[in-house]
Amino acid sequence: MEQPISVTRSNFNDWMVPVFAPANFIPVRGEGSRIWDQENKEYIDFAGGIAVNALGHAHPVAVNALTEQATKLWHVGNGYTNEPVLRLAKQLTDNTFADKVFFCNSGAEANEAALKLARKVGLDSGIAGKSGIVAFNNAFHGRTLFTVSAGGQPKYSQDFAPLPNGINHVAFNDLEAAKAVINEQTCAVIVEPIQGEGGVIPADIEFLKGLRALCDEFGALLIFDEVQTGVGRTGALYAYMNSGVIPDVLTTAKALGGGFPVGAMLTTDKFAPHFSVGTHGTTYGGNPLASAVAGAVFEFINTPEVLEGVKHRHQYFLDALNALNAEHQIFEEIRGQGLLIGCELKVEYVGKAKDITTWAGEEGLLALIAGPNVVRFTPSLIIPEQDIDEGIARLKRALAKLAK
Ligand SMILES: *Cc1c(COP(=O)(O)O)cnc(C)c1O
Repeated sequence: MEQPISVTRSNFNDWMVPVFAPANFIPVRGEGSRIWDQENKEYIDFAGGIAVNALGHAHPVAVNALTEQATKLWHVGNGYTNEPVLRLAKQLTDNTFADKVFFCNSGAEANEAALKLARKVGLDSGIAGKSGIVAFNNAFHGRTLFTVSAGGQPKYSQDFAPLPNGINHVAFNDLEAAKAVINEQTCAVIVEPIQGEGGVIPADIEFLKGLRALCDEFGALLIFDEVQTGVGRTGALYAYMNSGVIPDVLTTAKALGGGFPVGAMLTTDKFAPHFSVGTHGTTYGGNPLASAVAGAVFEFINTPEVLEGVKHRHQYFLDALNALNAEHQIFEEIRGQGLLIGCELKVEYVGKAKDITTWAGEEGLLALIAGPNVVRFTPSLIIPEQDIDEGIARLKRALAKLAK
């Protein structure tokens, strides 16, 4: 066979639409919570592919599910159902509030489906103009036009006007502000149990309870966007289980496939029938390959050992970060749940989160930002303690550059 052409980081600028600014190295291989680049330099992975690689890299459970299914059946299209997708639907409905699932390929698509379902439920109610959507400042729901409009970061939507209308944004964690805009014309409230991209900001339980009560009062769907918080990330299978507030619709993606693209919208028997044959769809959603991998990943994560392990690792991380911070005084606040951790920079370091992750890369550590002032960690849910120790040591060296 011919050798594949050799490629470098600079080729990204040559050939790729410039919507990303990737690091100046190219990862080529991963195992567990370690990654190696083209020069065989090793990195500890605290980024987890942005809360996706829940089992780390090349985990045998995921690899076996993928390769076994790969020899059987990849794709059949929606004229036929398949065994892996039905098994995955049973897993998701058996283990959550939901009765029905719609499968797609990403978080944005799951939210797109959720918002369209809410609009359809509003239409079917017969109440004139019941199409209003309430969303929150700084929220992130994806990059399709509808989801970027529901998101609360105008920098991602303003260039693409005219936007879908009927979406109202109010302050996150401000129940009075939500109360002022939720009414008979509201068909949905969409909220992240923890704002991920927006800075790792947990919703107050009283806020979520209040939204639930307002949705009940006005007949609106409560949509929890658990694309980032779902599938064990917070130490619960889904973050709604931490609050006891049960949504009408839940969206899940990222960790669900452990690195294989898959998304899902979960809902109840009350709302699912508002979609009928032909009202919504997707070519790849629920394909056998994605479903087989997601089924294996979900089964592996949904055990007391793995979920307890996430809570244990949370504390281990926090102890290490607090010790580091006691020495260096860089973070104003260290927050989050499970293995979704945000470190907000002190005022003297505002805007430096991206620099820190760049220096972390130089020291052999993959880390994320959540806005300009928050360094975010979303590692594998089963990252070994020695990898946490090593990653923190590398972070410490990266932070030393900040002091200079
Ligand atoms: C990442 C994310 C999305 C978008 O998911 P994609 O798979 O990138 O489309 C939506 N909502 C939340 C909360 C996310 O973190």
